[in-house]
Amino acid sequence: MTDMDTTSNQGKPWQAVRTEAVESLLVELGVIDSARVDEFVRHYEEKVGPKGGARVVARAWVDAHFKQRLLADGLAACAELGLGGPETEKLHVVENTPTVHNAVVCTLCSCYPWPILGVPPAWYKSSAYRSRMVREPRRLLAEMGLSLDPSVEIRVWDSVSEIRYLVLPERPAGTEGLSEEQLADLVTRDAMIGVAKVTA
Ligand code: FE
Repeated sequence: MTDMDTTSNQGKPWQAVRTEAVESLLVELGVIDSARVDEFVRHYEEKVGPKGGARVVARAWVDAHFKQRLLADGLAACAELGLGGPETEKLHVVENTPTVHNAVVCTLCSCYPWPILGVPPAWYKSSAYRSRMVREPRRLLAEMGLSLDPSVEIRVWDSVSEIRYLVLPERPAGTEGLSEEQLADLVTRDAMIGVAKVTA
């Protein structure tokens, strides 16, 4: 997805330019140091990632009681698997069914369940995704490769800083013999945002 209005000098997104400017100012003032910032970025890029969310989904597929707890209180259930941390105070897990498909967006900025899914993809922050997921979700999903039957209801969830969303995708058919770990390997980041399905 292209998003022309977020690009400024030398092809860098304006958010990146502004962030670098703020960072260098804060470093100059002694408020933060660059090593700490790098450590924080590396943590979310390398140590936390969609694999965490995939473990949560696979557990919910094989353990009905865990699934119940996950749908009741997402963060508490994720904590059982050792997942959690700053940037997510409340996690609402929404379940896909044969008749309901859920998709997540942050219309205002880029709120995302970082401790569960890691760093959001660039397109998630684009103004095209943020506006079109609300205006014409069915068409946008089809363009992203997910064509849903007209009879399937699409529910779009708008993330805010206080509450983030995680889609619990449908378990694909033909995966009855797979272990929890094998199931987790099938679960993609995009399926947990709700712009794809999990396929076997
Ligand atoms: Fe946001």
